[in-house]
Amino acid sequence: MSVLIFIDHLEGQVKKASLEALSYGAKIAAQVGSNAEGFVLGTITADLAELGKYGIQKVHQVSDASLDQLDAQVYANVTVQIAQSAGADIIIFPNNLIGKAVAPRVAARLKAGLVSGASELPDTTNGFVVKKVVFSGKAFARVKIDSAVKVIMLNPNAYPVTEGEGKAEVVNATVTVPASKVRVTKSNAATGEIILTEAEIVVSGGRGLKGPENWGGVEELATLLGAATACSRPVADSGWRPHHEHVGQTGIAIAPNLYIAIGISGAIQHLAGVNRSKTIVVINKDAEAPFFKAADYGIVGDALEVLPKIISAVKRLKGK
Ligand SMILES: Cc1cc2nc3c(=O)[nH]c(=O)nc-3n(C[C@H](O)[C@H](O)[C@H](O)COP(=O)(O)OP(=O)(O)OC[C@H]3O[C@@H](n4cnc5c(N)ncnc54)[C@H](O)[C@@H]3O)c2cc1C
Repeated sequence: MSVLIFIDHLEGQVKKASLEALSYGAKIAAQVGSNAEGFVLGTITADLAELGKYGIQKVHQVSDASLDQLDAQVYANVTVQIAQSAGADIIIFPNNLIGKAVAPRVAARLKAGLVSGASELPDTTNGFVVKKVVFSGKAFARVKIDSAVKVIMLNPNAYPVTEGEGKAEVVNATVTVPASKVRVTKSNAATGEIILTEAEIVVSGGRGLKGPENWGGVEELATLLGAATACSRPVADSGWRPHHEHVGQTGIAIAPNLYIAIGISGAIQHLAGVNRSKTIVVINKDAEAPFFKAADYGIVGDALEVLPKIISAVKRLKGK
């Protein structure tokens, strides 16, 4: 029996969401008295043995180059083979784009109960109960999984990365990689940008910024803070910013440590994608804007006056 954790990676490096999943899985393994093992698909340059410091004992690797492109059906097939050979009874994915594509397929193939959006360690005192986020973060549910095999999708930023000592044993998994039924013919990756879903800090603008000509301040603050930029949906719909920056219910869901919302009203559909951020700072000229109810810190004022002052203050602090 073991806890098996999916190791998601980008440009050869393990994503933070997976380090959280490894730490979470290792803690569950300790809780239920079993082994924690990771698995990685595709080419990766990171030193996999080093992942032992997150509490796992073993890493199963399938370094087949055909797995460098995500095909959810192939990934699910290979995951099931690894899970069965490792005797995994708990399988953990980060609740990100790749986890959402693969985990449900794995659960269906293994007839496993699945909990997405997990926000805490399971309670194993009476069965196996996982707390999860529901209604776009407005409520929690506790879900009992009764099946022999359990699949959990851990929300980003819900569990801390816990580093200790130790090396993991790295083994080549003996699997058959099925041929993909789809083929990527062309991909255009954004370069030189901080990826929104991976960013620790996000600076985001809404319609209160009046027009794309006023985004210089948002970009400058983001660069100073090493942050990614984001926007509300009408901003992307109006073509002021690219669609890949649109966050919310119909856009990307993010959970950075710091979310700075500038000239955004805080509509429920926007909050649905950002309310898992650890700290929220809101700048809005309307003291009654709904976003202030979700904010940890708020500034009531005209963004076009406040933003330059924040930028100067950050520059001063950074000695720039
Ligand atoms: C099905 C559905 C799905 C949706 N999905 C999303 C989604 O995924 N993401 C999303 O963002 N929206 C989504 N929306 C739209 C959402 O309901 C809101 O309309 C949208 O979030 C509002 O964007 P906004 O806050 O930028 O603009 P507005 O609502 O126009 O708010 C602008 C804010 O800026 C403030 N302001 C104005 N001038 C200044 C100034 N000079 N300085 C400071 N503050 C100023 C105003 O007080 C106001 O609070 C969705 C809507 C529907 C119906």
